[in-house]
Amino acid sequence: MGIKTLSELNPRNSKVILRCDLNVPIKDGVIGDPGRIIASLSTIKKLLEANCSIVIIAHLGRPKGEKKKDLSLAPVAEKLSELLKREVKFSTEITGVIKQALDLKPGEILMLENIRFESYETSKDESERIKLATELATYGDLYIGDGFGAVHRKHASVYELANLLPHAAGDLISAEVKVLEQLTKNPSRPYGVVLGGAKVSDKIGVISNLLDKANVIAIGGGMVFTFLAAQGKEIGKSLVEKDLIETVKELLIRAEKLGVKFLLPTDIVVAKEFLSDSEGTIVASDKIPSDQMGLDIGPESAESFASEIKLCKTVFWNGPMGVFEFSNFAQGTKVIAQALTQVEGIAVVGGGDSAAAVRKLGFEDKDFGYISTGGGASLEYLEGKELPGLVALK
Ligand code: ADP
Ligand code: MG
Repeated sequence: MGIKTLSELNPRNSKVILRCDLNVPIKDGVIGDPGRIIASLSTIKKLLEANCSIVIIAHLGRPKGEKKKDLSLAPVAEKLSELLKREVKFSTEITGVIKQALDLKPGEILMLENIRFESYETSKDESERIKLATELATYGDLYIGDGFGAVHRKHASVYELANLLPHAAGDLISAEVKVLEQLTKNPSRPYGVVLGGAKVSDKIGVISNLLDKANVIAIGGGMVFTFLAAQGKEIGKSLVEKDLIETVKELLIRAEKLGVKFLLPTDIVVAKEFLSDSEGTIVASDKIPSDQMGLDIGPESAESFASEIKLCKTVFWNGPMGVFEFSNFAQGTKVIAQALTQVEGIAVVGGGDSAAAVRKLGFEDKDFGYISTGGGASLEYLEGKELPGLVALK
């Protein structure tokens, strides 16, 4: 990828602007999975050790340029302070002459409020993004990009700002890219890819791009039903993206020509309603009752996916196998997660919900080869796309 690393730039006594991905789930001011904050600590600690001051820029959710109280980064600043055992100052102002930023001393940290409260951050108009980036650039002498989860976005603080200052990638981005390179350049074989989650449209590009690279592709989650529909099966009230049925049909034909093992579930756990206390029934995947919906892959499918996964030397998994948020439909995801922990080689978990799912199901990060902090970003990388936030750090 040729991005500049933190140690190559080797900042010392500098005023650093650090772009992080601190987009964690927050409910009523309480942080759910703090994974992304923890993943940002390495770079922050190194910068502090090098006697730098740090202005942290990050986003939360999609406020669309409006100040929304429930999307404030204030609880994140508090959590970061707790993890670092050190004060983290917070500025509700993002632009203008922020005295707190100008007065920042070596070893001090200032986090700015959700950068997406500024509409120019995500503007389609380049000149607006440059305008915001130019203001942000006054807060420091160096730019470190470490917000992996946002590198697929051409946003002011991800792309334009990096171009305005001497820059490098932080440790998190370097680690993420290293893993993604392992998945795309000469992966150890067999190479298995497991995809689930709600929507085929999110993942179709990845399936297509990995079709001639992977040896095994297993599909679960809500997107299974567009595949089953493409095979002419009854899918009842299950999720389906009708406009993608033709694309999926072509994909299945290509998979067969390429000789990749393409695994679809043979049994499905169905329910009448999408409710947390719905009871599941196991049916064959060609016997889904017309008044029911599929909410998890069945036990037979989970076992057969798992036994294929365990034989692989490289595995990439993105997207839960079922509605893991409901305990009756979490079993498929659990069996697959378990299989990934047994892989002799590298097993990578990507995607926000997938990472949250494995933690919720009681697995630990160290059980896996790597848990990526970026869903969309890793998927776009694996689709073979250029990621603006990485291009900017070259
Ligand atoms: P990730 O964030 O890991 O990339 P996605 O966002 O693509 O994953 O998908 C996660 C969501 O998919 C979860 O909220 C889960 O409930 C949902 N999901 C999985 N299987 C089904 C299903 N059969 N029907 C409806 N939703 C599903
Ligand atoms: Mg998701």
